[in-house]
This record gives sequence, C-alpha cells and structure tokens, in this order.
Amino acid sequence: MPELRKSLKLANVCYDIRGPVLDHANLLEEEGQRIIKLNIGNPGAFGFDAPDEIMHDVIHNLREAQGYCHSKGLFSARKAVMQRAQSQGIANVAIEDVIMGNGVSELIVMAMQALLNNADEILIPSPDYPLWTAAVSMAGGTPCHYRCDEDNDWQPDVADIERRITPNTRGIVVINPNNPTGAVYSEETLKQIVAVAEKYNLVVFADEIYDRILYDGREHVCFLNYESLRDRLILLNGWSKTYAMTGWRLGYSVWPAHLVEPVTRLAINCHSCVNAATQFAGIEALNGPQKRVDHMVEAFTNRRHIIQQELNQIPGFRCIEPGGAFYAFPNIEGTGLSAAELQNKLLNEAGVATIAGTSFGSYGEGYLRFSYANSEENIRLAAKRIKEVL
Ligand code: PLP
Repeated sequence: MPELRKSLKLANVCYDIRGPVLDHANLLEEEGQRIIKLNIGNPGAFGFDAPDEIMHDVIHNLREAQGYCHSKGLFSARKAVMQRAQSQGIANVAIEDVIMGNGVSELIVMAMQALLNNADEILIPSPDYPLWTAAVSMAGGTPCHYRCDEDNDWQPDVADIERRITPNTRGIVVINPNNPTGAVYSEETLKQIVAVAEKYNLVVFADEIYDRILYDGREHVCFLNYESLRDRLILLNGWSKTYAMTGWRLGYSVWPAHLVEPVTRLAINCHSCVNAATQFAGIEALNGPQKRVDHMVEAFTNRRHIIQQELNQIPGFRCIEPGGAFYAFPNIEGTGLSAAELQNKLLNEAGVATIAGTSFGSYGEGYLRFSYANSEENIRLAAKRIKEVL
C-alpha cells in the first residue's frame, strides 16, 4: 500500500527536547543506566510541587468543573489575570481581553492561526523555543530568525531584526525571559523593539512565561507597560513554570480588543473550552500566598549558581550567568565538537541528557542547553560525569 502523505508544513515542526534525545535516554534507562535528564524544564517532576492550597481549591471545585465552560475561560479566572496585571500597575487589561488556553503552547498555535495568511513572515528569535517556529509554519507563514547576541548578554540584535523586515513581515516574537538562553531583556532593548514594531506596523507576540523567575534583583518589564503597543500586542503567559504546574495545562493571553471576537470563534473551534478544574487552580495560584514562588526562585538561584560554576570548570565550556528562567546555555566551541556531537557523547558516555543548541535554530550551533529545574545533587553529579568524559 502506498505510504500516506503528510503535510509539507510538518517539515519545520521540530521539538528535540522531547524527541530523539529523550527516546535514546529512555532506551539507555531500560538497559539499566542511570540517566540524568537535564534536557527539559519540567519543575513539577523534580521536587517542586504545586502548593497545597491550589490542590485544595481544585478538589473543592471539581463538581463545578464537569461541563464545558466559556471558550475564553472562566470569568473568575480571567478576572484573576486582570487583577494580577492591576497589581503590577498595568491598568489596560480588561476581563474581556483575556483568553485562556490549555497551556501557552496552545495559545501560541492559536495566535499564529489567527494572525497569519500564507507567506506572511514572522521574526523569531534565534536561538528559539522551537514551538514558535513550528506554529508559524503550521499556519502557512514563513519563520525568519533574528539573532540574539551572546556577546551582549543574549539580548536581541535589534539592527538584525530591522534588516530582516520585508513587505511580507507581519510580526516579531519576543521571549523574555528567554528559553533557551536565560536572558532577561533590558528596558532599552524592549523600547527599541516597540519602536521597530510601530515603525513597520508589526504585531508583537510576547511570550513572558518565565516573568517571575528572575535572579539577583533583576526586574522584568512586561510589554503591556507600553501603552502605545497595546493595539498590536499579543501577550502570553501561564502557570506551568511559576507555579510548577506544567502538567495542569493552563495559560492565558491578552489581546487587542478588536481581535477578541474573531479569536474567540477560533478558540471555540480549537478547544471548545479550557480545562475547567485547572482554572480553579489558576485562580488560587494567582490570588493565594506567593511565598512558594519566592522559595522556588530561591532554590533555582542556588542551582543556577552551582550549574554555572560547574560548567565553567569543564574544559572547552564557557557559561554566562542566566538572568532568568532555569536554563544554562554554555558556549561549547572550545570542546572542538559540534553541538549535536557533544549532546550525543554526553548522553552515551556520561549518561547526561542535554539538548544541542541547534535544536533551537541554526544560531544555536556551538551551544548546549541544560535545564537546572532539577535537584542540586543531579546537577553536581552530571557535571562530575561530564568532566570525567571530557
Ligand atoms: N513558551 C516558552 C518560552 C516555553 O519555554 C514553554 C515551555 O517550556 C512554553 C511556552 C509552553 O508552556 P506551556 O506549558 O504553558 O504550554
């Protein structure tokens, strides 16, 4: 029988974080090896549980969560999002502008489906969280990668962004704090991006899922603060990372008022509604005590310090200290190996799963991503094994 044909759009749909590296790591585990998995940012799986208050609220509300809810999400959940914005001094978010999703992942795909026509171009950071490139391709668009510069603390190269703009360019994706680099963008960079978006009439897609995971007193500036951008901004955030709720699947988006109605129609078609039980968790997470978030960030602060120190002791590695999120993205050019060669060597010979920088786009050659949403013990052991192998 002839093989079924798949869509050509799938060519750009990659996700190595859970792809071949993980499959191979699982295979090695089945053979009895102990693999240290620093390939994925999944805090819930490594000792960061969602707080008890959140569990309690979900259990308590489970009976109320059995039917479909509004496709934009529960009114009370959207209100909690608005109130969170207000508590940050952001007054321009109305409950009506908020659309919930089953994770930021779903909202990224929806945002691209909603905005793109065939051959529209979207500027995406490189290195990039791969879902953005995939979502643009699946929507019939063309991903165009702009450079983020290691020598400038991995800030986006705004001149490079501007150079890549064509008559087909529709928007710019900004991931801040960044995965995979851990960079937190300066206000100066953000202002330059706002100016470019206004000058060329572009949409800004702001992925701020790591906005609360910041180190050394760094501050995150939410794009909603730029009033002039509000009508061309799609803001995405969620609970996965801040509240260690990756498995619960909950995210939110804030839209320009004129797009809310068509995107609501899209949302109905995409998901019918968002997991209702999880939204009760989301409300409690936003409104309840935030000390757990602080404790988690404290724990990450230590781990970040340990991983950076350890990686810098490995011959051929050079690692700048990440300002946010929970990824280290060392330069590994000094090892003389390509990113993929080193990734495979570390998995096969050291039993450490990492992700080659090239999994985050072509600028990622010469880098390796480590997630330190893992135990201190595992981070130290991984570094020890890598040193032995190299
Ligand atoms: N955006 C970025 C930058 C991420 O790193 C991730 C997950 O790793 C997501 C979005 C997806 O988040 P969610 O779990 O809400 O789907």
